[in-house]
Amino acid sequence: MFIDDTIAAIATAPGEGGIGIVRISGEKSLEVAQSIFKSKSGKMIKDYNTRTLIYGKIVDGEKVIDEVLVAYMKGPNSYTAEDVIEINCHGGFISVKKILELILSKGVRIADAGEFTKRAFLNGRIDLSQAEAIIDVIKSKTDMAHEVAQNQLEGSLAKKIKDLRMNVTEVLAHLEVSIDFAEEDVEEITYQTLEEKSLELRNEIKKLYDTAESGKILRDGLKTVIVGKPNVGKSSLLNSILGENRAIVTDIAGTTRDVIEEFVNIKGIPLKIVDTAGIRETEDVVEKIGVEKSRESFSTADLVIMVLDASRKLSEEDMEILESIKNKKTIVLLNKVDLEAQIELEKIKEFVSSDDIIEISALKNQGIEELQDKIESMVYQGSVKNSSNLMITNSRHKDALFKAYESINDAISAIEQRMPYDFIEVDFKNIWDYLGYINGDTVREDLLDTIFANFCIGK
Ligand code: GDP
Repeated sequence: MFIDDTIAAIATAPGEGGIGIVRISGEKSLEVAQSIFKSKSGKMIKDYNTRTLIYGKIVDGEKVIDEVLVAYMKGPNSYTAEDVIEINCHGGFISVKKILELILSKGVRIADAGEFTKRAFLNGRIDLSQAEAIIDVIKSKTDMAHEVAQNQLEGSLAKKIKDLRMNVTEVLAHLEVSIDFAEEDVEEITYQTLEEKSLELRNEIKKLYDTAESGKILRDGLKTVIVGKPNVGKSSLLNSILGENRAIVTDIAGTTRDVIEEFVNIKGIPLKIVDTAGIRETEDVVEKIGVEKSRESFSTADLVIMVLDASRKLSEEDMEILESIKNKKTIVLLNKVDLEAQIELEKIKEFVSSDDIIEISALKNQGIEELQDKIESMVYQGSVKNSSNLMITNSRHKDALFKAYESINDAISAIEQRMPYDFIEVDFKNIWDYLGYINGDTVREDLLDTIFANFCIGK
């Protein structure tokens, strides 16, 4: 793809703040910036070393728009690998908007969402997995998610995919030779080598694929619903968890009786807690919306935390809820253990395994640590966690890996059946293609547009 136009956008988040940044990228960056900038020293931008902050003013003819610092990053040593100008002006809505308008009036086009990053990819500065990591870094909700994204940005996944594809290329070369010089006596050796290499490759692909479940949770959060009849202590539990862990986002939609979502950091896992109005039949219209939404979020939850009041006997309502969570990943909390226990534990065990039952006191902050450990071990299933920061967090990557995995299985069965080499070659070419989706090598252009459309404007 040939890029010949110059783009601009506001790179900072909208709103009042100390500074705002307008970014320009492309051939005309320097010329356009120079036409609206007067440095204090009287020197031209090009007379300074690149990547120097130059103090001066943005002017529209005689009119001063704002006092600014301008940086010129000459390509290819810039974010997009093109000539980039960044104008640091005063924050707020007006300065950035006026400066952007002025730039656009000089024949520069407004950038699409993610277009700067897309250019960095198209210009070969980073691969697609690195480009996608940039948005993950920006959107990460816990330190750990940030670390994994940062790692991917630095190229950990890019390198892994490159290595895997190199192995595929080797096999392909091997196959080509065998196809060209097929002789009876070398055949068995070839099949044997092929089989060894394929099994190795499958193992590598599988290992990477297996990180995807935890990876997705790290990136998008574990959707958790707290259920239980009124007064068992759901709100107290939420407060108890929130007390120890900074809530990152609080999104209160609609009425207070609606579903409330909060992100809570549980040992590096972003838990997206949906607090529900409690599952119960109701006549109240407003309440009904809450309950309806509860049922909805309940059915799409990754984890259900059911709270029971341990100081009372199980009620019919409790039993109904227990019945409805039978097939979900559930943790049952026996709350209020600071009071005398009345609850029939044996009955609960008919619905959930005793490993998934935890005694707590939301009021006295007891058992919360145990709950957190339980969540952590559920997410990592005890295995993946400490291995490395190389994780598949993106469902697009996961799908591509799965296809590569299917193809390697096809290849292995073809080898086992001693199929002709050119059959096997087709499978290996597929693997090569599928892995190429991840680093962007074989990805289609319309898909690229979809990927970058999820980015912020100005990134
Ligand atoms: P919700 O309706 O399920 O959200 O329940 P709340 O969190 O509002 O709690 C209902 C009542 O139970 C409140 O009076 C709480 O103070 C009390 N409560 C909650 N957790 C505990 C606990 O662990 N021990 C005791 N003794 N009381 C609790």
